[in-house]
Amino acid sequence: RTVYVNGAYLPEAEASISVFDRGFLMADGVYEVVSVLGGKLLDYEGHMVRLQRSLSELAIQDPLADADYLAAFRELVARNEVTDGLVYLQVTRGNPGDRDFAYPPADTVPTVVMFTQSKPGLADAPAAKVGWSVVSIPDLRWGRRDIKTVQLLYPSMAKMEAKARGADDAWMVEEGRVTEGTSNNAYIVKDGRIVTRELSHDILHGITRAAVLRFAAEAQMAVEERAFTIAEAQDADEAFVTSASAFVMPVVRIDGTSIGSGTPGPVAARLREIYLEESLKTAV
Ligand code: PMP
Repeated sequence: RTVYVNGAYLPEAEASISVFDRGFLMADGVYEVVSVLGGKLLDYEGHMVRLQRSLSELAIQDPLADADYLAAFRELVARNEVTDGLVYLQVTRGNPGDRDFAYPPADTVPTVVMFTQSKPGLADAPAAKVGWSVVSIPDLRWGRRDIKTVQLLYPSMAKMEAKARGADDAWMVEEGRVTEGTSNNAYIVKDGRIVTRELSHDILHGITRAAVLRFAAEAQMAVEERAFTIAEAQDADEAFVTSASAFVMPVVRIDGTSIGSGTPGPVAARLREIYLEESLKTAV
């Protein structure tokens, strides 16, 4: 596989990053994951806008021009012959020379890494027909979850806890209300209304979330942006999650309780279909 490091395309075994890179030492960096379907990039613009926001919240200078990102994404997709899969992009504050809590001078050159992962048949994931089972777990992450940083240890621990409990993912709960999944935004459907937590510092502003809510509104579906409890979710007609890599994924069990019929519901199925159809139209 060919990977991208600071402007160079290299075999993955030859790519390297400094031991002093602040991404490595302090998780001082941000990332994006963009899905590839049929060789095209889904929601590319949205992911790039969020990247800019994450960088600016952390005062990391943007090392590349917009066109350079797109050219590199396309180059990697072509070189690695990715039909379905993803492109991962990470920008860290770079290597200041010594380890220090204070940010280094603003002219420190950020480190940019990109790679691809192939996932043949990504849009037809069998899990979408069955739905996920999730368990609830306290949300012990930091308070700026709207910044897409590479500090992913707690979501990893939550994912492991979910697997240990025989589930597919965890829904994190804070002050009695669901924030989001380990790597996705969470929704319930009750009496035809789609409910999902409002945007704030408490959750990542999902690019798929934005697209799905737009398509839901266009399809005249009612949307309520507010937090909900696990009990409310267990009593819902349907539940689902969204992310760039899972698209719209039905959730059929929460903490062992079946949601609705215990099978993927019509709203999630319809939104998945609309999302895949519409986002392919704007794919680049
Ligand atoms: N929340 C969290 C915590 C995530 O890690 C992700 C995936 N990156 C999402 C939500 C979904 O965001 P997106 O739709 O932009 O992939």
